Amino acid sequence: MSQSQLLFAEAQKHLVGGVNSPVRAFKSVGGQPLFISRAEGAYIYDADGKKYIDYVGSYGPMILGHVHPKVLKDIETALVNGFCFGASTEGEIILAKLVKEAFPSISMLRFVNSGTEAVMSAIRLARAYTKREKIVKFSGCYHGHSDFLLAEAGSGLMTYGLPASAGVPEKTVKDTLIAPYNNIAALKEIFEAFPEEIAGVIIEPVVGNMGVVLPEGDYLKELRALTHTYGTLLIFDEVMTGFRIGFGGVQNHYGILPDITCLGKVIGGGMPVGAYGAKKEIMELVAPLGPVYQAGTLSGNPIAMAAGIATLELLKNPELYVQLNTRTQTLATGIRTIATKYNIPMHVAVHGSMITPFFTGNKVFDYTTAKTADTERYAKFFNGILAQGIFPPPSQFEAWFVSAAHTDQDIYQTLEVFDEVCKNL
Ligand SMILES: *Cc1c(COP(=O)(O)O)cnc(C)c1O
Repeated sequence: MSQSQLLFAEAQKHLVGGVNSPVRAFKSVGGQPLFISRAEGAYIYDADGKKYIDYVGSYGPMILGHVHPKVLKDIETALVNGFCFGASTEGEIILAKLVKEAFPSISMLRFVNSGTEAVMSAIRLARAYTKREKIVKFSGCYHGHSDFLLAEAGSGLMTYGLPASAGVPEKTVKDTLIAPYNNIAALKEIFEAFPEEIAGVIIEPVVGNMGVVLPEGDYLKELRALTHTYGTLLIFDEVMTGFRIGFGGVQNHYGILPDITCLGKVIGGGMPVGAYGAKKEIMELVAPLGPVYQAGTLSGNPIAMAAGIATLELLKNPELYVQLNTRTQTLATGIRTIATKYNIPMHVAVHGSMITPFFTGNKVFDYTTAKTADTERYAKFFNGILAQGIFPPPSQFEAWFVSAAHTDQDIYQTLEVFDEVCKNL
């Protein structure tokens, strides 16, 4: 038995399913979950010492690659000064200023410990600001695991949310309305049905959590106009997309500014950090200035701030993004060529350094079309390339992440493995 197998067997006795986040259990692709011993740059090493080119990137945070020397050094410097104080530090101001520099729609923000917390708090804030209760989310978008966002569409036309998890009361999601992504007509219908009741529309402006799905045409622009018309706050969940395509987010890239922005992942450089921010008038509703309560023992943690600051400072480098995004395009073009060569129906979606090869002949523009992907074929592909030292996400519906540490050689090596595996798929 491999060390990963032994550890997984032991882990299952003590940790639910052997993991602390479900996707790590490899359930949708089968096979043996990896236990990691260490990582460096673009590479990750399992408990047996086997080396992989890493395309999971911790699901987003590791945009600089693992253990970047500058980030490591700054964490070490911060560590000796204390782990956590329950009082403010200068690091919180520095990271806040970096985030604001990248996101002009934010003039004040609050740090929390995860993307889930950021989104949960942003929704509370939108409800308080508008004095309305309904929110709209889109099928296939993920916003963390707070109760009222664990909702999915029922059947029928009027898309009231139904609990998407056991333990979520129906009444908790009754004010969560679900719309299909990339469909402005459907959203209009919802607004016409509840013109004065919708507090906020929350969206992954480029989706990463059903695999990468891009907004089509003027979708984001029309979404912005519609929310303005109805006095509804537009909330961009950029937990995954923040700092992904450049020093900013989807909002900078497409020039569409939301009212509230949620961040996480990259801004902590691998440490637990989330944030939500908006213009002053909205943020001033949050305690201690306003009546919206939100707090955190570990929020603004000095070690996490140090990791975030070092990461964002390094990302203030347009050349880094040019290289990173170009390499990702090389990977995408390579996969498309290989798929064509072996007659494998495939739709490859890319945003900056996020990429998803969907095993489907359909164009993917929403959850329904994403679901046409052949998950069994993905599972076979996954296990084939994993065995050959490539670590992709263990689900068809997750984004792959290329990091600034990946070299051209890494990309070519990856494509060679793809070719070999796709030949027999
Ligand atoms: C990862 C993610 C979250 C949840 O963040 P956690 O840190 O896992 O709680 C929320 N929204 C989006 C878009 C994400 O990608």
